[in-house]
Amino acid sequence: MRLGVISDIHGNATALEAVLASLAERAVERIVCLGDVVGYGAEPDLCVRLVRASCAACIAGNHDRAVIDTRSLAWFNADAAEALLWTARALPAESRDWLAELPTTDVVEGVLLCHGAPSNPDRYLFDCCTAEAEFRAFAERVALFGHTHLPALYAREEAGGEVVHRVPAETEGATLDLAPTARLLLNPGSVGQPRDRDPRAAALILDLDAHRAEFVRAEYDIAHAQALMAAAGLPPRLVRRIAHGV
Ligand code: ZN
Repeated sequence: MRLGVISDIHGNATALEAVLASLAERAVERIVCLGDVVGYGAEPDLCVRLVRASCAACIAGNHDRAVIDTRSLAWFNADAAEALLWTARALPAESRDWLAELPTTDVVEGVLLCHGAPSNPDRYLFDCCTAEAEFRAFAERVALFGHTHLPALYAREEAGGEVVHRVPAETEGATLDLAPTARLLLNPGSVGQPRDRDPRAAALILDLDAHRAEFVRAEYDIAHAQALMAAAGLPPRLVRRIAHGV
């Protein structure tokens, strides 16, 4: 099974279309989405419809939940909250209803899907220390997570062994061989708002039979996505950052 993994699309349908085309070229059999389909970008409804049409499973991210229940907006910075209020107004009822029904976690092909961390959907998993604690929070061998917008792979190759962080300096096309019994926490990076200083849309292919993780980057028309955001009146800082991958 070649599993395509996407996360943190954030209303950027231009980036999402590029990533889906790239995964299709690479013979991915199923695609899963780790949440934050909306928030920040100018095409939230198109992102919802593309995810519904192309993904075998999708879970809720913190931005997806905030669009449905705006009482949680106090937890977001001013730009993010403004974009979420815009998104809530822009989404038709059908897409809002679909977002409202998303589960917090799911299991596909024996792999756990979560947004922030297995123990808590709002927790950021940034380092080996957190990863080590998180390995105790789930029973599956492999978990997929998002939320940080940074591609990452944490591996524990033997029970009780050291947790190592393996991320290629250049993620495009980087393929890592995995020990077949290793426990893994993998983050594909962000489709619509990468923060690893590479503005290209990010995704991951997890080959569960060949025990291989392949990090994918897709070029897309960033200026087009920015023009849509500016025309929608979204905060200028959010418009600028997608060109820099921060
Ligand atoms: Zn996000």
